[in-house]
Amino acid sequence: MQCPKCEGETDRVYDGDVQIDRCNHCHGLFFDQLTQRDLALVADQTGLDSGDEELGAEFNDMVYVECPRCDRIMDQRLIEDPVRIRFEICTSCHATFLDAGEFREYMSDRCRDHFVALLPESA
Ligand SMILES: [Zn+2]
Ligand SMILES: [Zn+2]
Repeated sequence: MQCPKCEGETDRVYDGDVQIDRCNHCHGLFFDQLTQRDLALVADQTGLDSGDEELGAEFNDMVYVECPRCDRIMDQRLIEDPVRIRFEICTSCHATFLDAGEFREYMSDRCRDHFVALLPESA
């Protein structure tokens, strides 16, 4: 598929109950759905987030990301305090896009509970 953020080509890097594609250009991760339940299923896959967070940060300010399935602008979820978390999620199909480095960061002990709280409970 085409990366919803930078239009680079993506590769399927995980094919389970949740499918994860990684962009070859910006190295962002696209989850075909990411609810709290889905996150538990892929919690040990942070190694897939092999991109450089500095590269991810370059794309961080792009806020209008279109869901490749629904053709609508994805919603932005954002908190600043006590940790900074920002990502895009489609409110209709729960597809989620994380910039390079964000999956690893958001699954850290420091961020994880806050990240989970920003996700929909179930599909
Ligand atoms: Zn990309
Ligand atoms: Zn969608």
